[in-house]
Amino acid sequence: MARTGRTLQALDRRGPATRPVSAGVGPPASAGVGAVLDDAATLRGGLLSSTDVGSANRARLLQALVDDGPTSRADLARRINVPRATISTIVTGLLEAGVLQEDPPQPPLDGIGKPPRPLWFAPDALLCGAISVSRGSVDTAVINARGEILARGRSQISADGATGALDDEIVAAASSVLWAFRGRLTGIGLTVPALCHTDSMQVLACTPIPSLVGTRLPPLLSEAFGVPCVLEQDVRAFAVGEKWFGLGRGIPDFAALQFGVGVGAGIVLTGHLMSGRGGHSVQLGHTCVDPDGIACSCGLRGCWETLAGHRWLRNEAVRRGVPGGRDTTPKRLAGRKAAGDEAAAGLLAAYGDNLAIGMANLVQLLSLQLFIIHGDVVHAGEEFRAELQSKVVARCLPALAGDVRVEYSALDQDAGLLGAAATVLTRRLGVAP
Ligand SMILES: [Zn+2]
Repeated sequence: MARTGRTLQALDRRGPATRPVSAGVGPPASAGVGAVLDDAATLRGGLLSSTDVGSANRARLLQALVDDGPTSRADLARRINVPRATISTIVTGLLEAGVLQEDPPQPPLDGIGKPPRPLWFAPDALLCGAISVSRGSVDTAVINARGEILARGRSQISADGATGALDDEIVAAASSVLWAFRGRLTGIGLTVPALCHTDSMQVLACTPIPSLVGTRLPPLLSEAFGVPCVLEQDVRAFAVGEKWFGLGRGIPDFAALQFGVGVGAGIVLTGHLMSGRGGHSVQLGHTCVDPDGIACSCGLRGCWETLAGHRWLRNEAVRRGVPGGRDTTPKRLAGRKAAGDEAAAGLLAAYGDNLAIGMANLVQLLSLQLFIIHGDVVHAGEEFRAELQSKVVARCLPALAGDVRVEYSALDQDAGLLGAAATVLTRRLGVAP
């Protein structure tokens, strides 16, 4: 299934458009692809001999494509500041390896000169297995480096139960989609709604699915399909997905935020995904915004999550007598506001204030320029988005707030799968974040 139209529109706003989705897949990845991945692994080690310079330039070229999207040889030469002849040598190797392909000629912007032919990832190379686990279900897909979904499936899984049994269920569910692509996958990305230690591939804590703690899914999947498997917290993978396929492309500093039961954040800073010590995710939702505030599930008081999570919204709807009470969502509040419901309008405005508090703190701390929102909030409409952006700007020092943007993610329900694939591509190609 193709990505949504909204995704493609979002990419169009940013720069070079992606081509229509290719439904077909080609032959198995060539040995050339493997050579590129081996070089990337070498480069990640950070020790370059003089003979590695060519590989380093190749990594810079791949990074430029990730950052800028489809790009011509001439523009790539300017972008990474190497001679055209060097670019041609690298590109020829990547074309022969099947990693890249040249798209049809585009009309030159100035109307004169030779029509440029954008280079972009080939649709049948660098295929990623993507697995997104949530409470009660698991989504699996095969996704290429263009972000095109070539196959997908969803299976129900036990919400509770022993860890080993859950592992077996998830491997079986994923295999039903991935098995047809065995031998052709570059790697497998696994995203979970959990605090992870990404370096050691451990799930440390998972409120929605407690039995994921202690999971052996990464080694089990790696063994089953003979490729590396990477584990990542869902919202951190969202950020990597935005960098590869969404609104974060070419943006050095941004945060993907998810507002649900909890508050999650994946922060990209100077082009790299921020991690805590040892690969821990940041716990933005548990930073204090009100010392005298509500008791949080973490045991602290006044965490941002106690004001920006669903629980606050629903409790407050009941307290204020907003119709719908416990079933309140930002989308329903926006609908009631549009129909003239002043109580709903007041609650939605207060919720926007609560979101803006934590987002403004991030601007003050890290000078972020873009927030990409995931979760239910993306259905609250353009008016709420614009108001939220204004509220964030109003809470920041003017010198920092000038170009701050708040956008809804265009990756929609596929953010977890695309994030999983982007995490694989990032690790395997040795590019940022
Ligand atoms: Zn807390």
